[in-house]
Amino acid sequence: MEKNKLVPADYIVVSNSNQLLTHSKGNRFIFDRDEVLEIDHGTPRTFSLDTQTRLLQTQQAELPHDDFSWSGLRDLLGTLSEDEFQLAGRALQVNRWFNHHQYCGRCGRKTQLASDELRLDCRHCELDFYPRIAPCVIGLVTRGDECLLAQHVRHRSGLFSTLAGFIEVGENAEEAFKREVMEEVGIAIHAPEYLCSQSWPFPGQLMIGFTAEYLSGEINIDPTEIVDARWYHYDNLPNTPPAYTISGQLIRRFVASKTRT
Ligand SMILES: [Zn+2]
Repeated sequence: MEKNKLVPADYIVVSNSNQLLTHSKGNRFIFDRDEVLEIDHGTPRTFSLDTQTRLLQTQQAELPHDDFSWSGLRDLLGTLSEDEFQLAGRALQVNRWFNHHQYCGRCGRKTQLASDELRLDCRHCELDFYPRIAPCVIGLVTRGDECLLAQHVRHRSGLFSTLAGFIEVGENAEEAFKREVMEEVGIAIHAPEYLCSQSWPFPGQLMIGFTAEYLSGEINIDPTEIVDARWYHYDNLPNTPPAYTISGQLIRRFVASKTRT
């Protein structure tokens, strides 16, 4: 390949299928360009990830040597800084978007990659395809010194977390959170307050985080989504998600607000 195709990137992230090339030392996945340009990548495509970094989508699954491996994003969870995790998530979401939009969804013809931004165009029917994110709401419901935590069907390991769900078409985020809480645990809440958001690339959510105070109702779980849900005092919490998740952050903020002197 021609090296100048990658100019002006200083750093390279390499993807193949749904994985990133990682170096065994500390799960490093951001490489100096000289480290990876010597590798045979077949006929790679490259995409801009930020001003200094390009994603190189390789067609070779063979590893350059024993110090390298292919890692999924879940393999890297908790091992990267917040900035690194965000970049790895962006890389795999761009990778996935490109692989999933090779053909136009309206006329079925091959799409073309735009040269000026991350966009795939159908030049036949003039439809364009940008990388997609799915907006989700997530939030902590509180009642005085207690918060409502639920064990989700997908977390059979005993982890108790906040409530979350996808925003439906035509809803705003606050309405979606009120609806999700009512559907999942049968509780009515006061107006939710926005706190923070997080990109969650599994596979492409934007998590919009709220807190909301309890209004009325008894816990009545939807067993298709929730295994168990209870009120927990802030100083007696069950096993909760780690701090790198927005759920973990919402719970920690609540505890901090109660223990502040
Ligand atoms: Zn088309």
